[in-house]
Amino acid sequence: LAELFLLRIEKSDLNAFLHVDRDFTLQQAKAADARLADGTATALTGIPIAHKDIFVTRHWRSTAASKMLENYVSPFDATVVERFNQAGAVTLGKLNCDEFAMGSSNENSHFGAVKNPWDKAAIPGGSSGGSAAAVAARLAPAATGTDTGGSIRQPSALCGITGIKPTYGSVSRFGMIAFASSLDQGGPMAKTAEDCALLLNAMVGFDERDSTSVERPQEDFTRDLNASLKGLKIGVPREYFGEGLASDVEQAVRAALAEYEKLGATLVDISLPKTKLSIPTYYVIAPAEASSNLSRFDGVRYGHRAKEYKDLVDMYRKTRAEGFGDEVKRRILVGAYVLSHGYYDAYYLQAQKLRRLIADDFRNAFTQCDVIMGPVTPTVAWDLGDKADDPVANYLADIYTLSTSLAGLPGMSIPCGFGQGDKNGKRPVGLQLIGNYFAEAKLLNVAHQYQ
Ligand code: GLN
Repeated sequence: LAELFLLRIEKSDLNAFLHVDRDFTLQQAKAADARLADGTATALTGIPIAHKDIFVTRHWRSTAASKMLENYVSPFDATVVERFNQAGAVTLGKLNCDEFAMGSSNENSHFGAVKNPWDKAAIPGGSSGGSAAAVAARLAPAATGTDTGGSIRQPSALCGITGIKPTYGSVSRFGMIAFASSLDQGGPMAKTAEDCALLLNAMVGFDERDSTSVERPQEDFTRDLNASLKGLKIGVPREYFGEGLASDVEQAVRAALAEYEKLGATLVDISLPKTKLSIPTYYVIAPAEASSNLSRFDGVRYGHRAKEYKDLVDMYRKTRAEGFGDEVKRRILVGAYVLSHGYYDAYYLQAQKLRRLIADDFRNAFTQCDVIMGPVTPTVAWDLGDKADDPVANYLADIYTLSTSLAGLPGMSIPCGFGQGDKNGKRPVGLQLIGNYFAEAKLLNVAHQYQ
């Protein structure tokens, strides 16, 4: 298996992988073979997987797709990586993404954009664009991703694969290069919900090295996959079908909802009135946390250091000016601004209050339904370069994924057909499933019944 996928990776021109090491991977595969023989195998032993380059690894460089960490090798493995290694999974390499996971198109990578395998003129989505493209092109059967405001769900949707962002606190953030710590959450990206369930079994679990890790009894996420959907109440938020939603996406999503009715579910009209506010709220909170998290990249402790400088302050300044890309600098500036004396109350505190109101929207909605469904993105994948110089256009495309993250709820994307794309190829549409806290098994069940 490892040989097969390595061969495909070598032949691919999608720019999905940043680091591969054939010998190391094959060595891991041999060790997996030995475990299969001696009876210590798990469901994932020998299964190839690739990791978003946000998860640190001892063997491979961990760059977060930034020049700042271009040659950085971590002295330890992220908990997620460690858990997959313990299960006997075989690492195929590290995957391209937006720099420090900031972006929606994968065009913010220091190592160049990733191409969408369905249509190479299109973006794969972001920030986990390498993960989504690798799985969609079958360069890897499974990949890890991280989702701060949509980065697992949105690229999964735009590349036509299945991805789930679990409830905040389920998957350890230890060794996940931090973007916005109160939002960051790792999760699996694969072909089907069933695969995601198996991967989640390995990923979810308490970790004392992550202060926001949740301690709960171990779950088997495959347990409800085959449960019937008769009587399931699906909340359809009005605000997710309004202005800005492209007609081809709406059509595919509505067709999927009709399928669910055939499976015995009923559709309930619900409202998430604060949806619009999720963009300004997120784009205050996430940059605020990022400006704090990224202060550690000072040229002393990690990665890049400017070659010539006059004194310590000059060294910091030049190192950060050279090491960070434009979008990362923009976030640091916005974040430092909204946290600064005199603006903290006006921006950061207000955003925190709105965050609570956005979570209340969902609390209300889940008194009327079991799961919420809608689009993941307002349009199918756009062309590479189209919005590259327009940060606000990128931010607006996050409208349906941000509020789930702000509330800490689990969210999922499953493929539900194709939009129009253009003459070169088809462009996939994703159906979003949002569940109540810790309802991952339910989401996977609902997804599996459709697939
Ligand atoms: N597109 C969002 C952003 O740029 C979300 C990114 C993410 O989830 N990591 O911040």
